[in-house]
Amino acid sequence: MRKPIMAGNWKMHKTIAESVDFVSKVKSNVSDVKDCEIVVCPVFTALKSVADAAKGTNVCIGAQNMHWEEKGAFTGEISPKMLLDAGCKYVIIGHSERRQYFGETNETVNKKMLSAFKHGLVPIVCIGETLAEREKNITFDVVGKQVKEGLAGLTGNQSSEVVIAYEPVWAIGTGKTASPAQAQEVHEFVRKTFTEMYGKDAAAKVRILYGGSVKPDNVSELMKQPDIDGGLVGGAALEVDSYTKLIKFQR
Ligand code: PEP
Repeated sequence: MRKPIMAGNWKMHKTIAESVDFVSKVKSNVSDVKDCEIVVCPVFTALKSVADAAKGTNVCIGAQNMHWEEKGAFTGEISPKMLLDAGCKYVIIGHSERRQYFGETNETVNKKMLSAFKHGLVPIVCIGETLAEREKNITFDVVGKQVKEGLAGLTGNQSSEVVIAYEPVWAIGTGKTASPAQAQEVHEFVRKTFTEMYGKDAAAKVRILYGGSVKPDNVSELMKQPDIDGGLVGGAALEVDSYTKLIKFQR
């Protein structure tokens, strides 16, 4: 049985004070939740304060990006060791906004994913097709390549611990959610591809999150799909009430 994850990607939102206030409210709302992993991903400057505020609770912290090197002359970058030091357990890798605006490729995604594991972080690796790719009927080609290249080289334990987030680019921040059937079709394909790479046991354990306009009113239908193991959520994870509802989605 795979434990669902409800991860909130705050993108470039919230000051330190706003982030701490948010997590203080959420942690008391969800203190009784045991059947869902809760992950908030604030901006870098708020990581340590949010991690301190969440210490000893069931709320985990994730970062939104990292460099693959441990240290060095990489102005403006942050390393996995620094994220760990700030209190992170997870790190989002290869979000479509990073691929689109900051030149992230399957190759850099792979380097970052392997480095995250090497330093004790759990990577949440994002994949997903654009609208043009879906309309050209090449969704499976694009997503298959992202999985084969981006998720290559994992060892035994890593292949069941890695988290994958399928996020169709056309559904992110647009209010257009993939239908539960559309999402399930791709999730099933991703698990099949992962089975070819790492075998049945790892594929049965790996958690595949859906992202793209997940809201309290569509989360339950999405979560009923057999291959959807949680959500990576932007907009609806920025408000305490809606994020709480997502975490406590109707089983
Ligand atoms: C995201 O940021 O990964 C995302 C899916 O955003 P939204 O939920 O706002 O579509």
